[in-house]
Amino acid sequence: MKVHLNPNPNPLADSIREERLAQGGFGKYYTDNMVVAEWSEADGWSDAQLIPYGPITLDPATAVFHYGQEIFEGMKAYGQPDGSISLFRPEENAKRFARSAKRLALPEMSVEFFMETVKELVKQDRKWVPQKVGESLYIRPFMIATEVGLGVRPSNKATYYLISTPAGAYFNAANAVTVWISTEYVRAAQGGTGEAKCGGNYAASLVAQKQAAAQGCEQVVWLDAKDRFWVEEMGGMNLYFVKGSGKDAKVITPKLTGTLLPGITRDSILSVAKDLGYEVEEVMFSIDDWRDGIASGEITEVFACGTAAVVSAVGAAKSDHGTWVTGDGKPGPITMQIRETLLGIQHGTIPDTRGWNVKVC
Ligand SMILES: *Cc1c(COP(=O)(O)O)cnc(C)c1O
Repeated sequence: MKVHLNPNPNPLADSIREERLAQGGFGKYYTDNMVVAEWSEADGWSDAQLIPYGPITLDPATAVFHYGQEIFEGMKAYGQPDGSISLFRPEENAKRFARSAKRLALPEMSVEFFMETVKELVKQDRKWVPQKVGESLYIRPFMIATEVGLGVRPSNKATYYLISTPAGAYFNAANAVTVWISTEYVRAAQGGTGEAKCGGNYAASLVAQKQAAAQGCEQVVWLDAKDRFWVEEMGGMNLYFVKGSGKDAKVITPKLTGTLLPGITRDSILSVAKDLGYEVEEVMFSIDDWRDGIASGEITEVFACGTAAVVSAVGAAKSDHGTWVTGDGKPGPITMQIRETLLGIQHGTIPDTRGWNVKVC
C-alpha cells in the first residue's frame, strides 16, 4: 500500500503560518494537506492519497451520519533539539486503531500502512510542527462508514482520513481542574465500546459534560456502569492517584477492566513513574477509596493524562456526595515531575531509553 503525493500547490504563506503557530491554541487551524484512503469489501484498501486539506462531500444517506460507525485516534509529532521531528509511540496508536476498527465492524488497517500515512503527512507539513517544549503537531486519524443507504448493517465501504492541527502550550502550571463524578450517566458498560476510540462514546458523554459545567466543573469522571462505585476515567483522559509523598509515594491508576480506554499516556506513565523511583500499581479504585483517601490525607495528588494535555492536575472532585479537594487544590510535585519527565522524553531533552520516539524527518 502506497501513499501518492499530490500536495497542496498553494500552501499557506510562511508569514501567515508563523502567525497562526504563534497564536497557540488547539484545533483552530489545520495544516495544508490531508490523507485519504478508501476501502471496499470487494477490493480492500486503495492506495492512500496525500491531497490539499479541504471539505469532503458525502451523500446524505451515507451510513456514518445515521448509525455513527466511526473511529479515531489522537497522536502527536514533537520537534527535537536537533531540528528533527519525532512521533511518540505511533505504533501503539496504529494497533489501537486496528482494535477500534474491529470493534466497530470497520476494516482494519495494517500498522505499516497507518504509519506510512502519518509519516508522509508530517513530512509534507513539517513546517507546521511547533518547536517549543509543550507545543506539538496533533494528528487526528479517523475512519467513517461510507456505504450509502439506511439499512442497518456493517458498511461495505469505509474511508480513512488523516488531518493535523498545531497544538500550542495552553498548559497553565497553576491550574488544576475540578471534576464532576457522574452517578447518573455512564460512559461504558461491559461488552460495550469503552475500549474502542469511537465518536459514539463521546456523543453519549456530552450530556454529562453539560451537567458537570452546570456544577462548575470542567470535566466528568466516569464510574463503572454496574455498581456506580469503581472509578474508571475522566472525560477523554485516564486518571492517576498519588498516595503519600516523597520517595515513598505510591502512584496508582484504575485497572483496565474492559470498559476503560487503554491510554498510551497512561501506559507510558506506568513506566516513567517506576523509573522515577515510585511504587506503581494498577488497581480497582472506588469512590470510597477516593473520598476516604482525601479525608485521611493519604491521597496527596490526583491527575489525569492523555495525548492532548499530557498530564493535568485534578484539584477537586464534586459529586452528589460532596466535594473533595486534593491537598491545597494546586498541582502537586509528583504530578509536575511526571509531567516534566514525559514531556522531556517526547521533546528529546530527557533520554528516551525505550525507543518510544520514532523519527520522521
Ligand atoms: C484517547 C483517550 C484517552 C487517552 O489516551 P491516550 O492514548 O493517552 O491519548 C483516555 N480516555 C479516553 C476516553 C480517550 O478517548
